[in-house]
Amino acid sequence: MTITRAKTMGFCFGVKNTIKLAMELIRSSSGPIYSLGEIVHNETLVKEFSDRGLKVIRANDEVEKGRLLIRAHGVRPEIEEKFRNNGFDVIDGTCPIVKKNQIAAREAEFPIILFCKKDHDEAVGIAGYAEKPCYAVESESDIDSIEKGEYTAIVQTTFSYEKLSAYTKMLEEKGCILHFAGSGICHASIDRRAAVEALSKLVEMIVVVGDENSANSKALFCLASSLVPHAYMVSGPESVTKEMASFENVGITAGASVSESLVKRVEERLSALSIDV
Ligand code: SF4
Repeated sequence: MTITRAKTMGFCFGVKNTIKLAMELIRSSSGPIYSLGEIVHNETLVKEFSDRGLKVIRANDEVEKGRLLIRAHGVRPEIEEKFRNNGFDVIDGTCPIVKKNQIAAREAEFPIILFCKKDHDEAVGIAGYAEKPCYAVESESDIDSIEKGEYTAIVQTTFSYEKLSAYTKMLEEKGCILHFAGSGICHASIDRRAAVEALSKLVEMIVVVGDENSANSKALFCLASSLVPHAYMVSGPESVTKEMASFENVGITAGASVSESLVKRVEERLSALSIDV
């Protein structure tokens, strides 16, 4: 079996930054340390950090005062405020690219149209910064209730390009004037998608390493499925099957919360199983 890697894959800048902050927090703290939600969509890493003392909590949990890490997706400002007011030392790990969207929401000149997956934590956090009405657009049906007018348009960093251009066109046809602000779609997502497109020209099958609850991994899997006859998503080496190992020419990519070591273990498992097929 030949395994070809996508040119760009795995940890993005924002995730690397949060992991670095988490490691510093573990190293420098003697009291309780927490992360507000899982720092990455990667069960293995979350467990590793939890074994070293970084406990995952939710916004409403009642816990002993300590140091709290906000992950790359960011949170609503009132949640951060609540912890600060309760005496927590809050370390803001919000990715600077997401932060730009939060600031754009706070400073918006017009009512906001937020192109996003409505229940995604990043979108919920950005909407929390809005001081003007904020309309979330996730699908075509959301456009029906938006009236003609001027809007500040903000795009969740992992939103699909195809949907964004289709919905923008529909809104403009309705007479909406959109003033785009914030960061737009993140380059980490764009680069990973482009790398999968290039990879698809070289292989017959693509394995996407990523967690089921990771939006960017799922988006890569959807893209791969549309480009090659066979695509699979695996969370780790244990999910690799004999069927996957039966292909000769295999491509591999990984979501933004996947470490190099996890990719390596998936590759090793594929190669090992291919010998038995
Ligand atoms: S995907 Fe982009 S916006 Fe999201 S955490 Fe990574 S670098 Fe930041």
